Amino acid sequence: AVVADHLIKRYGDLEVLKGVSLSVPEGTVTSIIGASGSGKSTLLRCMNLLERPDRGELAIADEAIRFARNPQGDITGLDRRQLQRLRAKVTMVFQQFNLWPHLSVLGNVIEAPMRVKGLSRRRATALGEHYLERVGMADKRDAYPAFLSGGQQQRVAIARALAMEPRLLLFDEPTSALDPERVNEVLGVIRGLADEGRTMLLVTHEMHFAREVSDQLVYLDQGRIAVSGCPQDVFEDPRCRHFVAPAA
Ligand code: ATP
Ligand code: MG
Repeated sequence: AVVADHLIKRYGDLEVLKGVSLSVPEGTVTSIIGASGSGKSTLLRCMNLLERPDRGELAIADEAIRFARNPQGDITGLDRRQLQRLRAKVTMVFQQFNLWPHLSVLGNVIEAPMRVKGLSRRRATALGEHYLERVGMADKRDAYPAFLSGGQQQRVAIARALAMEPRLLLFDEPTSALDPERVNEVLGVIRGLADEGRTMLLVTHEMHFAREVSDQLVYLDQGRIAVSGCPQDVFEDPRCRHFVAPAA
């Protein structure tokens, strides 16, 4: 499992995460819902250490890190190598795809396995081709991102995240930047990964999809988990009903 324990994250005086505890068991899918500004992206960014929490603990498989501020105000708790190793275990798919424009599709997918995990180009390419196949983008391996649709770019971004063979896959509103007719091709890939038993943590506004694909649903409200549980219970909970079904 990947476990966050009492994570606190501040930007200046603003406490964005106010002690968030969350466990994503191996082979399950958790979705986070909540209003804009509630801290969803910050939580994901803390889970893969793009941001360092101020306090709390993060356990990824067999490795645990405890965060604390030292008296100088620097954030302690991690050396560089540990950071790299942990980042390789938790990879992220972003709303805006964030592919490297100067690299081909295959180049995007093999970069981190070579650079971070030290794979040879040959091994990384074999792995990259496998995951491009998995997301239906193998025939575009030599194309550049600018020549792809948003849905295609996002599928490449998913292949890139998978190529690190992470313990946990994070998605931050993966379909929000897509044209409506492109949303389903990306949701279809994510659903397939869920069916394969990938461990995933997903921020989404696609309520129907979240309900269908998730084992656990978490409602984040102003930096705290207000409600969590199986999707059906969370959707019916009066504390988030107004959020999940505003029209009802
Ligand atoms: P949205 O649904 O709009 O994506 P969110 O739930 O993902 O919202 P976050 O992006 O996590 O929300 O932001 C939570 C709060 O933290 C907001 O008030 C935001 O302005 C603030 N915040 C986020 N990143 C930073 C930063 N780097 N510096 C200062 N404040 C930040
Ligand atoms: Mg966000």
